[in-house]
Amino acid sequence: MILVLGAGESGIGAARLAAKLGLPVFVSDAGHISPDYRQELIDAEIDFEEGGHEIAMDLFPDKLVKSPGIPDTAPVIQHFIERGIRPESEIEFAWNYCNGKVIAITGSNGKTTTTRLCTHLLQEGGLDVIQAGNVGHSFARALSEGTHSCYVLELSSFQLDGIAHFRPDIAILLNVTPDHLDRYAYSMERYTASKFRIAMNQRPEDAFIVYAGDPVIRDYLAKHPQKGRLQPIQPELDPHGVVRINGEPVANLSETCLRGRHNAVNAACAVIAARMCGLSDAVIHSALNSFVNDPHRLEYLGQHKGIDFINDSKATNVDSVYWALDAMTKPVIWIAGGLDKGNDYESIQTLVRNKVAALVCLGADNAKLVNAFKGTVDRIAETDEMSKAVAAAMEFAQPGEVILLSPACASFDLFSNYMDRGEQFRREFLKLNNPNATL
Ligand code: ADP
Repeated sequence: MILVLGAGESGIGAARLAAKLGLPVFVSDAGHISPDYRQELIDAEIDFEEGGHEIAMDLFPDKLVKSPGIPDTAPVIQHFIERGIRPESEIEFAWNYCNGKVIAITGSNGKTTTTRLCTHLLQEGGLDVIQAGNVGHSFARALSEGTHSCYVLELSSFQLDGIAHFRPDIAILLNVTPDHLDRYAYSMERYTASKFRIAMNQRPEDAFIVYAGDPVIRDYLAKHPQKGRLQPIQPELDPHGVVRINGEPVANLSETCLRGRHNAVNAACAVIAARMCGLSDAVIHSALNSFVNDPHRLEYLGQHKGIDFINDSKATNVDSVYWALDAMTKPVIWIAGGLDKGNDYESIQTLVRNKVAALVCLGADNAKLVNAFKGTVDRIAETDEMSKAVAAAMEFAQPGEVILLSPACASFDLFSNYMDRGEQFRREFLKLNNPNATL
């Protein structure tokens, strides 16, 4: 019997896959299961409980599949570990039933962009490919719905923590910067080791593409030899948007929606993976140009009174703000703030001094941000609503400048999530150009 703990996207995916394979399965969730997922379980005739693990605790499952959101320290997990039953992640479970090629992508930032781009390139190259994992459909759900010859998976470190045999044909590690350290006893070593698990079962015929410009990745590689075929890449972006690896052009970002050196890394990794899958440079070139990224990631909204508006609401940590500012070519009115996850702003002080003309804080509590930058930025405004933040930014901005929402913080103090924050920013921008519109 398969016991699935957690009834979110990965848990429901695992349960659906088990059911499809004819394996007995039970789902248990400590909280409430969302109506859609509950209905899905009922329709698929999968037994479940919610609001506690009472039934689950008395079971002796052959396999325990847990959602990435449940830490190993949770009492229910400890209960099974004491019984000799180790949990595995939905990724590991699904992997056992996957016959296609697997490209797995991880990193602290850039996972979604690179996963989407890689999937798009392969699709345009005519491959039967599907995207799954951390965002959108879970890997298990993708497998339960049909088979494909190639799976491009976005993987978080939590998902990698629960793998044992998972072995991608191509692994990509984009970067390792502090994030989610609360789940790793505040140890960068542990967090880094978790990211490197993506390649731990690889064999020499598998490829491991890593961004060698990242010092944490370089240090780790110097101490830990890898079993897969290591492809360290260090792409360079010239002022015309051409991305080169060791002098050889691999992509031209100027006609794509991708901007900035960080996106040069994402694009280079996706292009190298696409080449490994047999795509020609001509196909890759035209596919890059037709790529449309998800919103809220350095998304260009347009201009008002000669001022550019860029929505980078997905920048919820300091490193992604670093890259956003790095990509800016005009003076920046920077809207930042929100729920602080233990940010250290030291790494961006120089960039902020060079690029930021004014800072608009947008959070329930702006004290930390104000303190961090009052010596670096002359003009600082404090706000606690998107409309006020955009109004304050417009007061500061001159034609030829850019208003950038790149918060460095989570959004939950004032918004439902980063998408809500980004959409409110978009609405305020649209209102400026069309004050009478009902949006
Ligand atoms: P993830 O899925 O890892 O959160 P996204 O592609 O959704 O990554 O991007 C999240 C944020 O990180 C965005 O603000 C984006 O501009 C920034 N970003 C994207 N790629 C990189 C990268 N390679 N390095 C640093 N920051 C990046």
